[in-house]
Amino acid sequence: MSQKIRGVKGTRDVLPIDTYVKDEDPWVRIGHYDRVEQSARDLFPLYGYREARTPVLERTELFVRGIGEVTDIVGKEMYTFDDRGESVTMRPENTASLVRAYVEHNVNQQEPETKWWYLGPMFRRERQQRGRYRQFTQIGIEAFGSPGPRIDAEQIELLDRWLRTLGIPFEMHLNTLGDAACRPKYREALQAYLRSRASELCEDCRKRIEANPIRVLDCKNPKCQEVAAGAPRMEQFLCEPCQVHFLGVQEMLARLGVGFVLDPKLVRGLDYYTRTTYEAIATSGLGSQSTVAGGGRYDGLVKELGGPDIPGIGFAAGVERMALILTQQGKERVTRPLVFIAPLGDAEAVRADALAQQLRAAGLAAEVSFRKANPGNQLKRADALGARFALVLGEQELKTDRAKLKELKTGAQHEVSLSALPDEVRRLATAG
Ligand code: ATP
Ligand code: MG
Repeated sequence: MSQKIRGVKGTRDVLPIDTYVKDEDPWVRIGHYDRVEQSARDLFPLYGYREARTPVLERTELFVRGIGEVTDIVGKEMYTFDDRGESVTMRPENTASLVRAYVEHNVNQQEPETKWWYLGPMFRRERQQRGRYRQFTQIGIEAFGSPGPRIDAEQIELLDRWLRTLGIPFEMHLNTLGDAACRPKYREALQAYLRSRASELCEDCRKRIEANPIRVLDCKNPKCQEVAAGAPRMEQFLCEPCQVHFLGVQEMLARLGVGFVLDPKLVRGLDYYTRTTYEAIATSGLGSQSTVAGGGRYDGLVKELGGPDIPGIGFAAGVERMALILTQQGKERVTRPLVFIAPLGDAEAVRADALAQQLRAAGLAAEVSFRKANPGNQLKRADALGARFALVLGEQELKTDRAKLKELKTGAQHEVSLSALPDEVRRLATAG
C-alpha cells in the first residue's frame, strides 16, 4: 500500500457519516451545515438580501487596504502567493471583496440601496483550535447606501431571528465606535491610559498602543482584559450625531423586541469602521471560541477602496461554530431515501431501475439495491438507510403488476400497483 495523504492542517472534512468525537472536536455532519445554510437562504431574502458570489482569489492589495495592515489577519494570517508577478491572496473574509465588486460594477448608480448576502469558504493561517480553522465558512450580509440607524437595527433583528430559528443560545452585544469627528479624541485618551499601564500588557498589545490602540480592548489575554476594564470608554467621547445614531439603534431594537447588552469591549480597529458594532455570542456549547457572528458599520470603507462616499454595514457568521452547537444539541434534519427497492433477479433489477427513475422524476427519493441478498437482509439495509418504504420485487410482482410496499417504521403493508407507483407512494406518504 502507498502512504496515506492527509488533509492540510486546519482544514476539515464534513461528511455524511455519524458524528463522533475526535480530539474533543466533534466531527460535524453535513446535515448541520445544511440546516445553517438553508435557513439563511430561506430567511435573508425576506429582508431583501440577494446572494452575491465573489472569487476566493483577490489581489492582495484589496485586503491590505480593506482590512488594514496593522490587523492580525493582514499582518500574519493571509494565504498570499505570487501569481507570476502579481500578489494574490485567498480571501480571509468577504466584506472587502463585496465592496470591491460593488465599486467595480458601479452598483450605486443602478440602485440607491443595495442588500447582498454571501456564503463561502474563507482562509486564515491561525492556530488551529476547536471552532477555529484555517479554512472555514462564513455566511454574511452587507447593506450599502443606508446611513442608518434603522438598517443597523434591522440587521441585528435579522441575526437575532436567524439564531433563534436554529435554536442557538446566544446573547447580542452592542457597542458604538464613534466616527471621524469623535474617535480621534477617544483614541488619544485611550493611548495615554494604555501607555501608563504598558508593562501589564502582552507583547502584541504593547505594539498595539501606537499602531491600533482600540484593538487592545478585545485582546483575549486575561491581563490585557484587566487593563481594558479600567480604560476610558468611547461612550464618554461620542459626538452628538454619533450619540443620536446609537440611541436610534437601541430604540428601534427595543421597539422590535430584540434583547441586547451594551458591551464597550466590542471594537474594530480601523478608522473606516464607524459607529455600530455588534456580536452574537453563544452562551453555551463553544467554550472560548464563542463568537458566532460579528458585524458593524463601515462608513469609510467604500471610499477607501476607490468608490464613492457610501455607507455600509454588515455581519459575518461562522458556520462551523454554529454547526458545532447544533451537533452538541443533536439536532439535525436528514434527507433519506423514501423508497428502497430490492430486486431479487436480473429482470427485476431492470424494472427496479425504471421504477426508481419514475419516482425521482416525480420528485420522490428512491434508492435501488445493487446487491444480491435475500429479502430479509434487503429490509435490514432499507431500515439502516432510514428509508420510509421498502419494495421487494420478485417474479410474481412483475407478472401481476401488484406489489407490497412495506412501511418500515410501522410494519404496515400496502398493496400497490407498480405501473402507478409514483402516485401510490405520494398518496401513502401524504396520508400519514
Ligand atoms: P474571533 O475573535 O473569534 O477570532 P474574528 O473577530 O476574527 O473572531 P470575524 O473576522 O469578525 O471574526 O469573523 C466573523 C465570524 O467568523 C466569527 O465570529 C467566527 O464565528 C467566524 N470565524 C472567524 N475566524 C474563524 C476561524 N478561523 N475558524 C472558524 N470560524 C471563524
Ligand atoms: Mg480572529
